[in-house]
Amino acid sequence: MTEHQLLSSLAGEGGGVSLSILHKYFGFTSFRGIQQDIIESIRAGHDTLGLMPTGGGKSITFQVPALAMEGICVVVSPLIALMKDQVEHLRERGIKATAIYTGMTHDEILVALENCIFGNYKFLYVSPERLTSELFQAKLSHMKVSFITVDEAHCISQWGYDFRPSYTEIVQIRKLLPAVPVLALTATATPAVVEDIQRQLGFREPNVKRMSFLRRNLSYSVRRIVSTREQEVLELLQEYPGSSIVYTRSRVATYELASWLSSQGISAAHFHAGLTHREKSERAAAWQRGDIRVMVATNAFGMGIDKPDVRSVIHYDVPDSPEAYFQEAGRAGRDGEAAVAVLLYDSRSMSLLRRRVEDTFPPEEYVAQVYEDVCCFLQMAIGDGFGVTREFALEQFCQAFHHFPVRAYNALQLLSRAGYLEWADAEENHSRVMMCCQRQELYTFQLTPAMERVLHYLLRTCTGIFSEYAYIDEQEMASTLGMTEQLVTEQLLEFSRRQILKFIPRKYIPYITFVQRRLDRDEIVLPKAIYADRRRELEARVQTMIAYLQTTACRSVFLVSYFGEEHPSECGVCDNCVGGKVAATSPMTDEVLVQRVLDFIAKEKVTSIVQIHFPDVPDSRLGELLHRMMKEELLPPSLT
Ligand code: ADP
Ligand code: MG
Repeated sequence: MTEHQLLSSLAGEGGGVSLSILHKYFGFTSFRGIQQDIIESIRAGHDTLGLMPTGGGKSITFQVPALAMEGICVVVSPLIALMKDQVEHLRERGIKATAIYTGMTHDEILVALENCIFGNYKFLYVSPERLTSELFQAKLSHMKVSFITVDEAHCISQWGYDFRPSYTEIVQIRKLLPAVPVLALTATATPAVVEDIQRQLGFREPNVKRMSFLRRNLSYSVRRIVSTREQEVLELLQEYPGSSIVYTRSRVATYELASWLSSQGISAAHFHAGLTHREKSERAAAWQRGDIRVMVATNAFGMGIDKPDVRSVIHYDVPDSPEAYFQEAGRAGRDGEAAVAVLLYDSRSMSLLRRRVEDTFPPEEYVAQVYEDVCCFLQMAIGDGFGVTREFALEQFCQAFHHFPVRAYNALQLLSRAGYLEWADAEENHSRVMMCCQRQELYTFQLTPAMERVLHYLLRTCTGIFSEYAYIDEQEMASTLGMTEQLVTEQLLEFSRRQILKFIPRKYIPYITFVQRRLDRDEIVLPKAIYADRRRELEARVQTMIAYLQTTACRSVFLVSYFGEEHPSECGVCDNCVGGKVAATSPMTDEVLVQRVLDFIAKEKVTSIVQIHFPDVPDSRLGELLHRMMKEELLPPSLT
């Protein structure tokens, strides 16, 4: 008898099986919120979109049914670190789980996939860019898949704030497994994104399970800085004891603020993406244990962090999207005890926010100028450069051509998204190589002795290097080969120049690869989907953040309305609720709203009613009101 049959026979019916699994493997006695709804829906074979806030317990909603059902659950997840973490946790509980992701050798992947076919595995985690590999698809057809889970499903939507193109490949594996249902999970989705996720994943019928995003124990507030930001943070930390995260946008500021707090007697550490892997994991662990009270961090800190007793999340800078703010603030008070989320701002905050749109999406002519300057800097002639990788130091480039680094950086991002060049991926911290010739061809190349040694090392240590990228560690290579690291890197770059292998250096050796031959600047066009659409979305998000700073409405209501929740009730604990602003500014009656709509139409030169939108008013309510206004002929005739 399989475990699944055993449990079914013991418990008799569906809900009982789920509950006994929850207890047996995870040690919990009851489901939370809508977990059970989601589980029942996917067990009944329905495509399901589950919306639960961060920390709400989304993992359980696929892990429990997967254990109750026969076969293996395929889980698509965006971050390798998160994936490894979950696999580890499942294994600790005696559950067979594995993961495949970019950077594993061909053999490793093969072994993992065979295990899934023959080894009674219950979970196969896959990073999205692996989905299209032939090997994966071939092996998948031999697996008995119970259902497909898409974690962080908002990544599939261009309208989401964290679009990842590789997510759009998920629908390909749906085609290979037409009878298999899909479970999509996310914590951040506006109504448009909710629609889009279901469409992109080919839902057979719409099916959304939504849990209220209101967090009764979390008090949101916005504070205008009166003294200095540091002083303000210090006072907040004195006012609210306990574990804390302070978010700032600048890496330098994480360091400076943490040092200053330490000098004021508050235990603090700093965290950002530029630290070494070891520094990051040590610091995160010390904070998690409570050895360090305050983590001053950029947004690199958070994904996968699960500390229940965080008492405050303080934002030193205003984030540029409500999605990001809600996620980050939501890391406070997961244990259900009172916690605060404080957003600091000053007179410059709004203009800084607006400038962020300009910095993230500099004018198109500027982007073309950066392209031309980069080519010049790298001495790349028109028509040359196809497939060439060059070291590229942004700082030197900016100095030489008088560019403002943030804008130049974003121009390069846009150029790489538009496919003109490849610019080091900010998330990678290992170099990768793959051969781009046949094994027998290798003997025909004239190589220097240094190149030969590097090549031998690669052939000896990286299996599968002819068909897949393999991670390499230049430091280790250098010490094994008795060379300097720089010498190793130079050889790899030379191989790459001669198109013998593809070399993706780790991110702190900045590089640029030309994906196309060098073009004339007039030929540089940024597609609407990459530039104009994205820019407009960012503008709308920034606008919503400004509205959040200014609102006198309940902050919780403001935020959850943005995420499409209808008729949320006031939290009673945010600054506006407590300070009486909400009550004082009489509830937004239809009359008030009618006036707002008319003002909006006049001010924004609205040409169609679909342009009317208020971040703090649910679309459904606005829809009803507009309908009434139309009937009562309150809208200008040009709009109806
Ligand atoms: P999410 O993915 O929604 O952010 P996780 O799945 O990581 O959240 O779960 C967050 C925390 O909640 C975890 O520590 C998990 O063990 C806990 N949790 C989940 N479901 C339950 C439950 N039914 N009872 C108690 N704790 C739970
Ligand atoms: Mg999760």
